[in-house]
Amino acid sequence: MRHPAPVRPPDYHVHTRFSIDSRSEMSAVCEEAVARGLREVAFTDHLNYGPGYSTDHLDLAQYAAEADRCRSAFDGWLRVRLGLEVGEPHVFAERVAPLLEDRLFDIVLGSVHYVGGSRPIFEEAYFARPVREACGAYFRDVAALAAEGDYDVLAHLDVIRRYAREFGRVYDGPAPYADPIRAALRAVVERGKGIEVNTFALRSGHEEPFPSLEILRWYRELGGEVLTLGSDAHVPEDVGSSFDGALEMLRGLGFTRLATFERREMRWIAI
Ligand SMILES: [Zn+2]
Ligand SMILES: [Zn+2]
Repeated sequence: MRHPAPVRPPDYHVHTRFSIDSRSEMSAVCEEAVARGLREVAFTDHLNYGPGYSTDHLDLAQYAAEADRCRSAFDGWLRVRLGLEVGEPHVFAERVAPLLEDRLFDIVLGSVHYVGGSRPIFEEAYFARPVREACGAYFRDVAALAAEGDYDVLAHLDVIRRYAREFGRVYDGPAPYADPIRAALRAVVERGKGIEVNTFALRSGHEEPFPSLEILRWYRELGGEVLTLGSDAHVPEDVGSSFDGALEMLRGLGFTRLATFERREMRWIAI
């Protein structure tokens, strides 16, 4: 194996076959990550309790064992972090807490996929009402998660943009939702948490990542510094995707570093 230049920053949002919506082998993701110049990757498979979602795929013991195998196999080439993408950790706090107790994980992403823990934003039925209402309810939940949930980094803060577009609605944010979005950002800053810059958006035709540059500007104005980059890859080929473009955007906004996590302790790397 050989690291091609340039070295790319860590990818802190990657799915594998331990998520219901991915068939990636962890080792295949690691190989691809090395080939693309990454030195660190965090697996963040789904822990969701929303209706209709099965967590059967996520056997935590097997998940951790597989990560350990990859740590050994790629030692010296790639730092392998083990994380989770927890859906609505503020709603399902009682079920999530015991799983996080033994400090097995390096990073916990907090996501809203089900408004109120029950209404999936990734189904068209969610948008069977004015877009202002649909997006407003989503962002109010993001603010609640930010303030109350157990997480390290808030994932894809304005991912509602993705679903609004997929279902033919016109997203009119972020200005009409400034109150809940700023409340979420303030909670993140006050609690010493971070937000993710999710590049799924950039490889799927959006011009800006999740969240948009305007929201990243607000975050910086409120004193926010802690950022991770995440591809949200569900296939190995997407690991680290669109990171060069995202880094340029972040530098343009004045950000000079990214956060990394080990056993949920944060460290900085320069960008
Ligand atoms: Zn997600
Ligand atoms: Zn994800």
